[in-house]
Amino acid sequence: ARKFFVGGNWKCNGSVSQTEELVSMLNQFSLTQETEVVVCPSQVHLQGVKAGLRTDVAVGAQDCWVQGNGAFTGETSADMLTDMGVSWAIIGHSERREKGESDVEVAKKAKYALDKGLSVMACCGEPLENREAGTTNDFVFPQIKAYADAFTKEDWKKVVIAYEPIWAIGTGLTATPEQAQETHAAIRQYLGEVAGADVAAETRILYGGSASGKTAPGLSAKEDIDGFLVGGASLKPEFADIINCQT
Ligand code: 13P
Repeated sequence: ARKFFVGGNWKCNGSVSQTEELVSMLNQFSLTQETEVVVCPSQVHLQGVKAGLRTDVAVGAQDCWVQGNGAFTGETSADMLTDMGVSWAIIGHSERREKGESDVEVAKKAKYALDKGLSVMACCGEPLENREAGTTNDFVFPQIKAYADAFTKEDWKKVVIAYEPIWAIGTGLTATPEQAQETHAAIRQYLGEVAGADVAAETRILYGGSASGKTAPGLSAKEDIDGFLVGGASLKPEFADIINCQT
């Protein structure tokens, strides 16, 4: 069985005092232990969040550099992240891909992070044009293929896929449970072809894009939806409702 998983992507939000408030909110939540939970603050707040946060919620970064330490001004390496006890990284978010990262570069970055001991939320997802043209799979499958080409079977044990349709991110236009399930099932089937049936059966596929306390129960009831990557709602008390949506 795939353990339900909820990630909170705080994006470029929060002051020192606001992240302290968020940590204190999370620490007070009554959370089911049936859900694996990871929160991803900005890089500058990682250490403070890590120090104050309950131990049953893991901490992740929102991105990392494609290789190790060196003369790469402004970057943060997976080596630095693991050294400070960060255990996850979101890789390949659409908000970073739009700056020009190709599928292959994203996969290379994810592979480096895995090699350094991080677990990875490997993102994928199509823009509105593809959804409307009925070519969602044509856009998403190459993203999955690039990950599959880079990862070994061992690597996949430390990977969750986050399917985040770009048109649903931050728009309030959550995919319907049927739309999300259809794409999740297609991704799982394709994963079976490119990574093997065992990887397809065991890898959790999260939905992201305006997930909320209201929409989570219907989405999570679908067979191939194994959790969420949450943006806006992860900064609010309803994040607890998303984590607990199956209880
Ligand atoms: P929203 O939940 O704010 O739509 O963001 C989703 C997302 O991009 C998570 O990575």
